[in-house]
Amino acid sequence: MGSGSKKAPSFAEIVASTKAAPSTDPAPLRVGHQTNGTFVDRDGHVYSLVEDSIDGARAQAAAADGATIVWDPCGCGGACGFQWIDGTAARRLGSVTPKIADTKRRQGSVGLWQSDKGTTLLLLEDAVSWGNEIG
Ligand SMILES: [Zn+2]
Repeated sequence: MGSGSKKAPSFAEIVASTKAAPSTDPAPLRVGHQTNGTFVDRDGHVYSLVEDSIDGARAQAAAADGATIVWDPCGCGGACGFQWIDGTAARRLGSVTPKIADTKRRQGSVGLWQSDKGTTLLLLEDAVSWGNEIG
C-alpha cells in the first residue's frame, strides 16, 4: 500500500527548485530620478515628492533642520550630474535664505522630498542661488 504513490519532494529538491527560480531582487537603484517618480540619494535612500516648489523661507528652515540639498544646476533632471550639499555645509545654508529666480528668462525651483525614514531632501533646479555653495 502506497508503493505506487509519488514521494513528496525532499528538502534538497525544494531548495534546488527555489534556486532555479528567477531572482526577484530589484536591480540596484541608480542615484537620481526614478521612472516611478521617486528620487534616490547617494546612500540609496528613496524619497517621494511632497511639493514640487516651496519658497525660500521654507527651504531655509528645512536646511536648518538637516535636509540634504541636491542641486541640478541646469534643471535637466540630472543628466549632467547633481551637486550634493549635506552635513555641515547644508546646515550652514540654514542661516541663509535662498534666492529662487522667477522671471520670464530665469526660473528656479526648490522641490521638497521626504524619505520613508522621515528625512528631508531639497532638490534645487535651475536658477537658484544660495549662500556660497550654490549659484
Ligand atoms: Zn543638466
